[in-house]
Amino acid sequence: MQVARDAVVVIHYTLKNDAGEVLDSSAGADPLAYIQGGGNIIPGLEEALEGKQAGDKFDVSIPAEKAYGVHDKSLIQQVPRRSFQTGTDVKAGMRFTAQTEHGPRQVVVTRVTGDMVSVDGNHPLAGQALHFAVELIEVRAASAEEMSHGHVHGPGGHHHD
Ligand code: ZN
Repeated sequence: MQVARDAVVVIHYTLKNDAGEVLDSSAGADPLAYIQGGGNIIPGLEEALEGKQAGDKFDVSIPAEKAYGVHDKSLIQQVPRRSFQTGTDVKAGMRFTAQTEHGPRQVVVTRVTGDMVSVDGNHPLAGQALHFAVELIEVRAASAEEMSHGHVHGPGGHHHD
């Protein structure tokens, strides 16, 4: 069976940045299981996997536009320190969820200057090309239950109690 829309796809992967540093890897852990076409992984990786079969191994480089997006300056904002919970020691590197006009979004504090705090809502990997080494472990049809939940059950997927 080939990877196609709505198939359950199980992969092992190693992700590197342009500098060749390993950012993430499934080696030594459960493989990643996802449903093709569901937008659960970055678009460039779904594209690269389309039509592949179990046992295939390949390397693929994905531009930022098809990974976590280009860096968006409009997601960098200055907010007054008083908008943080009283008692919070606001420091660069802190991550939290902010309410934005686009809904809740993960942001990171990049700088604290006096009473103003710079926060960046870009994904940490925005603006970066990503280089994946992929091994396709399994391709199978999704069960009706998996389709209705929108995720894979079992190893590498969701576990329900
Ligand atoms: Zn489920």
